[in-house]
Amino acid sequence: NRRPIVAGNWKMNGNLALIKQVEELFSDADISHVDVVVCPPFPYLGGFNDSNFALGGQNISHYESGAHTGETAVSMLKEMNCQYVILGHSERRADNNESNELVADKVELALAHKLIPLFCIGEPEDIRESGQLFDFIAAQIDAVINKVGIAAFNDIVIAYEPIWAIGTGKTASPEQAQEVHAFIRQHLAKQDSNIANQCVILYGGSVKGSNAVELFSQPDVDGGLIGGASLNPEDFLSICLAA
Ligand code: 13P
Repeated sequence: NRRPIVAGNWKMNGNLALIKQVEELFSDADISHVDVVVCPPFPYLGGFNDSNFALGGQNISHYESGAHTGETAVSMLKEMNCQYVILGHSERRADNNESNELVADKVELALAHKLIPLFCIGEPEDIRESGQLFDFIAAQIDAVINKVGIAAFNDIVIAYEPIWAIGTGKTASPEQAQEVHAFIRQHLAKQDSNIANQCVILYGGSVKGSNAVELFSQPDVDGGLIGGASLNPEDFLSICLAA
């Protein structure tokens, strides 16, 4: 009875024409069974007009406002009608040295402004191969629990994105995804089993129209965070319908 979510992360892609295509295609689609979110680059947030889906940002500053050239404040996302924000994406952790602690600060700030964090976690391939997968994932989650408390996970969506599956075409198998999603839920349940049960956990990493049904049919996979395939409106819609 967890309501599924499918979120498209455009990353640094897309344009005004794509906004039009997605809005037109989705306007005729019955997506009432799923919460659909599109996360375009910041300049395009104001370009969505008649969407029957929600909007999300791809990041926020850990500052509220002020002299921070090039940064975007959480209050600005709220003002531009965002309901969600992607935080802790592995590309930001890698490109911008975002630590578990910084990500936790941003989660706290987003929650304070009533934005729903799409809180991303996931391991690089060498961590998985060295058998440290679950410790690595637990540390990413614990940094946020330590900052905002377990109750905040009522309002947090987790996105498990194994780094080796992102943009590689190398999707985690449904069993691999389920194994980690179940671990995440068990880890939350150590603190609060009700919250663990209702927490929406998305899978991300080379999700396509052709593999979405199988992934989303896993008991602990509640939807997806979609990169490349979200840039193709038909593909993205077929993923939404699979949820
Ligand atoms: P791909 O779907 O392109 O693998 O990207 C996944 C992702 O990083 C979404 O945030």
